[in-house]
Amino acid sequence: MKVLKFGGTSMANAETIKKVAKIINQDEKNNRFIVVSAPGKREKSDTKVTDLLYAAYKDIHVFPAIEKRFNELIAGLDLTLLNLSEEYNIIKANIEGGASAEYLASRGEYLSAKILAAYLGIEFIDAAELIKFDADGKFDAVQTQAAASKRLKKSVRAIIPGFYGKDTSGEIKTFSRGGSDISGAIIARAVSADIYENWTDVDGFMVCDPRTVPNAEIIDVLTYKELRELSYMGASVLHSESIFPVREADIPIHIRNTFNPAAKGTLIVPTKKYFDGLYARSSRTVTGIAGEKGFIALTLEKSMMNVEVGFAKRVLEVLEKHGISIEHMPTGIDTLTVIIDGEGIDKQLLFDVKKDLNSACSPNRYTVEQNLSMIAVVGHNMSRKTGTAARLFSALSKASVNIRMIDQGSSELNIIVGVEDNDYETAIRALYEEFKND
Ligand code: ASP
Repeated sequence: MKVLKFGGTSMANAETIKKVAKIINQDEKNNRFIVVSAPGKREKSDTKVTDLLYAAYKDIHVFPAIEKRFNELIAGLDLTLLNLSEEYNIIKANIEGGASAEYLASRGEYLSAKILAAYLGIEFIDAAELIKFDADGKFDAVQTQAAASKRLKKSVRAIIPGFYGKDTSGEIKTFSRGGSDISGAIIARAVSADIYENWTDVDGFMVCDPRTVPNAEIIDVLTYKELRELSYMGASVLHSESIFPVREADIPIHIRNTFNPAAKGTLIVPTKKYFDGLYARSSRTVTGIAGEKGFIALTLEKSMMNVEVGFAKRVLEVLEKHGISIEHMPTGIDTLTVIIDGEGIDKQLLFDVKKDLNSACSPNRYTVEQNLSMIAVVGHNMSRKTGTAARLFSALSKASVNIRMIDQGSSELNIIVGVEDNDYETAIRALYEEFKND
């Protein structure tokens, strides 16, 4: 059994919704629970319905534009029996009655699901019945699992709006933007789906960011661990929180393209199942390359650091005191480097950290390097193939990229290199070219 989730571009207009319906109807038996986003952009300059709804919260005069978008869908799909006027009136009355921005934003998914349910003649189930938030507005996984699995057992097939649920006082709560991905994953877990299909507008997860390498290849198989490494370094197709519900339940995610259903897409598989041979392993040496700019390296040098008990602890305590979290920590015999994210770190803070490190650790030398990029080269197969690291470093050297730091994760799943921000794009391209054919 499958759970399918369709994103905003798939729900953008009547034509795209017809494509969605065709995909769903291709396998009526297995395609049982469908989660949808609000209608997204029809073309680049268009506005997403969710953005219109946030705007309508500030200015009710925007609301007719929203009604128009939904009415166009109804007309385009020839849904002569569906009239949403009553729904619009309820929403407008709720806004006047002081309903929250989250409630209003959620109505995009609500109405979008109503339309698809009517078009397919399938049951509509309100996400408020299934997805639960606690009194503090935090997602409640336990209550949700109980409510959703119980309710969905009673349904053969259903269309469910993404993005929102209900808290203990009955208020509508939304996830962060792009959160319908999370709803889909939660529903997949609740019904113990065999697979969670996430239908979007790209052919899959690319080996590296297409803004740096246009036409980068699509990754066919990716494990959850590899995805985690790549997403941590900024690669995104899915909402990052959407991974956890399905990962915990060992359910694979299949990213597919509504506009090119023949494409293979990217299959994200539970790491253990992949190693147990339950899924075809990728033959790629390097599964993906991702990176981010703007890191800072703080390096402490001290003779005989290796025998000084508690040195690292004192460094970490200073950073903790200043609320700074650590991204990486490569060490040498007499050196210790801490890599931190440069966002929100100003001159004053760096000065205070330096002062405290000097008094807590008395290093012989302390250096700060700013504008560093971290690039992660990720792949389970890297550790099995000799010479991978050598190829990686020589590719960077041929491209005249100076490597400032190397950190091989203990998972042997990745090699992280630090380069100057100015070299970031060159480095990514060089690494892509080196590994693209194997
Ligand atoms: N409609 C919401 C948004 O635009 C949620 C989603 O589409 O996933 O962020």
